[in-house]
Amino acid sequence: MSTKTATGRSAQVEEILGAFGMRAGGTVSGVAYGGRFKEDAGGAPLETHDPTTGEVLAHVRTATADDVKRAVSAAHEAFAQWRLVPAPQRGEIVRRLGDGFRKRKEDLARLISLENGKILTEARGEVQEVIDICDLAVGQSRQLFGREIASERRDHRLVEQWHPLGVVGIISAFNFPVAVPGWGWALALVCGDTIVWKPSSLTPLISIAAQQIFHEVTRGTDAEHVFSLIIGGGSTVGEALVADPRVPLIQATGSCALGERVAIGVARRSGKAILELGGNNAVIVMADADLKLALRAVVFGSVGTAGQRCTSTRRLILQRPIAQKFLDQLVHAYRTIGIGDPLDEKTLMGPLISESAVKDYSEGLAEMQKQGGKVVYGGKVLADRTGYFVEPAIVKSTVDMPIVKEEVFAPILHVFEVDSLEDAVAMNNSVPQGLSSGLFTTDLASAERWLSASGSDCGISNVNAGTSGAEIGGAFGGEKATGGGRQAGSDAWKGYMRRQTNTINYGTQLPLAQGVEFPVD
Ligand code: NAD
Repeated sequence: MSTKTATGRSAQVEEILGAFGMRAGGTVSGVAYGGRFKEDAGGAPLETHDPTTGEVLAHVRTATADDVKRAVSAAHEAFAQWRLVPAPQRGEIVRRLGDGFRKRKEDLARLISLENGKILTEARGEVQEVIDICDLAVGQSRQLFGREIASERRDHRLVEQWHPLGVVGIISAFNFPVAVPGWGWALALVCGDTIVWKPSSLTPLISIAAQQIFHEVTRGTDAEHVFSLIIGGGSTVGEALVADPRVPLIQATGSCALGERVAIGVARRSGKAILELGGNNAVIVMADADLKLALRAVVFGSVGTAGQRCTSTRRLILQRPIAQKFLDQLVHAYRTIGIGDPLDEKTLMGPLISESAVKDYSEGLAEMQKQGGKVVYGGKVLADRTGYFVEPAIVKSTVDMPIVKEEVFAPILHVFEVDSLEDAVAMNNSVPQGLSSGLFTTDLASAERWLSASGSDCGISNVNAGTSGAEIGGAFGGEKATGGGRQAGSDAWKGYMRRQTNTINYGTQLPLAQGVEFPVD
């Protein structure tokens, strides 16, 4: 807990908000399109809170359904020009965007710590992730390539090319307020798309700051109008965006329940969706594992970001011979976690995002115990201080507890014991979600079995590395209820473009495919 006085804290809040021209208790616009913020946005006013103190940070003007329509119209208009800008020149804009985030890294990281509650080192990592994806996308802007395919017809060429898709609607979650939407911004922009971004209503000031950076780097360029912001409720602003037929792609990050709504809404109008939804990630520790490595990975995975990552470790599966020893070491490590002000460099765990997240934590734990789970560490709400602080918890659970199949978005770790790798893999795969997973072993055969077709069923599967902290170069995403979407590196860029197959006949005959004859005089 911070020892800062109330006055010291207020000065700090003013300084952090002041870096982006905002002030504590002030009102800011959460709507921007056509290259500027709209001061007359007429949606329901929104209060944003400091999760460390529970106090109101600022008031935000939100979008109405009409603002959504206007923002989509502006993005649609901007698309007509932006798609014609050569891709490497679009990459140049994304390079500037990355530089903008580089310059404002510390200011933005502090704002993320303040409004989202993640500790400073993780907040810096979050901004770094935006910089990294911008770097990746700049290179990608010169590598948006199709293929040439051998034609069965003489004097014919068969090729495939990729074109910009149109307006991309990006709906994002509170827990990665810039990194995960940033994967979409960078790729969509080099691919020639324009963007309408609906961020979480829990982190509006961070989104407004990101929009400001966008305005700063694009003023007077071809990209001035390609990026819009519409802050507002999911059921109003979010649904209006999902339903708009002028938005061919929705990239949505959030709970599995959100994903279902978006998938149905987009399918109704034959649009596309990239869905990045909830996880229920397991780490398996075999008896032959390097336990020191495993311990560090499990503690970061389960306590990092106060258990509020899609990739947080929620299930720990221990092979019986080392189970008690590992659990003892884990409890010891949990005791050393400093919980407090996320802006204090010594803190390892900040607050949860909101009062309602604290309620989910308490109700989740109560339900786990009702279903037979035994709390072996933590489990208390830290009511001795302001804000939304809880202790991280470890619960000895059994696989038949229905709640084990759910993602409780809080720092609660289920622990299980198994006899064999087969049992561990089956347990890993027994939940509806399929995002991230990790196996700790020094046995090559176990590692390869884990990565084989009969191993983990998740989109991300690691060996001797935890579930959290993916690199930008790989494709990120998960299977089953996690939504099947892929973002970031590898060939994720293809999700932001449309594929076109072209047949070019440079001969004087018109041979038909499959040898079909159709003589016409
Ligand atoms: P959430 O589902 O409550 O909200 C996510 C976003 O969806 C918000 O912007 C919200 O306003 C919007 N929304 C809500 N209802 C909507 C509707 N009907 N139509 C359109 N938009 C709507 O999620 P959250 O609490 O902000 O974030 C936590 C969740 O996100 C967790 O489940 C976590 O696992 C998941 N997540 C997944 C990934 C991933 O890459 N797989 C990354 C980060 C977070």
